[in-house]
Amino acid sequence: MNITKIIFGAKNTDIENLKKLVRIYSLAGADVFDVCADSEVIANARKVIDGLDLVKKPIVCASITLSNDKHANKAEIIKDKCCGCTRCINICPQKTIVSEKNIAKVKTDGCVGCGKCLAVCPNSAIKMYNLNQSFETQFLQAKSADCIEIHTNGKDQNLYEIFEFLKQNYDGKIGICISQNTDTQEKIKIITKCKDIISPKKLIVQADGNSISGFDNEIKTTQKAIEESKNFQNIDNITLIASGGTNFKTAELAKAEKVRLDGIAWGSFARKIIFDNENDTEENKLKKAKELIGSLFFE
Ligand code: SF4
Ligand code: SF4
Repeated sequence: MNITKIIFGAKNTDIENLKKLVRIYSLAGADVFDVCADSEVIANARKVIDGLDLVKKPIVCASITLSNDKHANKAEIIKDKCCGCTRCINICPQKTIVSEKNIAKVKTDGCVGCGKCLAVCPNSAIKMYNLNQSFETQFLQAKSADCIEIHTNGKDQNLYEIFEFLKQNYDGKIGICISQNTDTQEKIKIITKCKDIISPKKLIVQADGNSISGFDNEIKTTQKAIEESKNFQNIDNITLIASGGTNFKTAELAKAEKVRLDGIAWGSFARKIIFDNENDTEENKLKKAKELIGSLFFE
């Protein structure tokens, strides 16, 4: 197990926050940054990486979301229903809700669709919508990345055509992440077929336990990521990475349960280290980032 991946968010286009996250986790030794399929986001991530004196340069992976994938969700405030209680502002882990004239407003760029605001609103004043961008639109933006990861709910009719297309038209690494509400046997079937399509290239499988949920450091938070990884560990010739609720405890649990993992992707938990406390020094954030990356290699 040696791949460390940091997820900025499949539809997160907040460039200033991207630069902060990429800078600190590059210095901390991350191998991969998982970002939005957006050429400006990809270019900015590369610019930060290229500007640092690093022994090992991380690669940039662009996430493409197919129909109604949760990672393409965004929150929106229904102004007429908002009483300005600020509960959503206080709970948003991305700090992307602001108050304007005592009404909440989502700064859409930074929203990762976690739904935490929705859960606390007393007036049902928040609704989620899905960006639903086409594969073709996203591919044009994503093709400059070192890796493309396809996010699917497992029901996309054209999924195998997309993998055929990638095999013919894309030189970089290829990954898949199937949302949790798909039947496990169906997921294994899909992964096996996609793996065969792109062979001899090795398919990267991101086993998504509980998407966008790694907000604390509890074992129970990361259990689903390990359970999901177990479901796929016997598929040969794939690179298996745990995600969805990952934290400091993920590697420890994987080792205890003898799960064959090739790496861990941290999203919410990694971002929290950088953005949760505005007063934290960069030195302290780097120290915590190094500890998170280092948790993969504990003995
Ligand atoms: S929680 Fe709901 S009512 Fe309260 S500020 Fe946010 S949107 Fe408005
Ligand atoms: S709480 Fe989550 S869904 Fe709501 S605005 Fe913040 S990032 Fe978006």
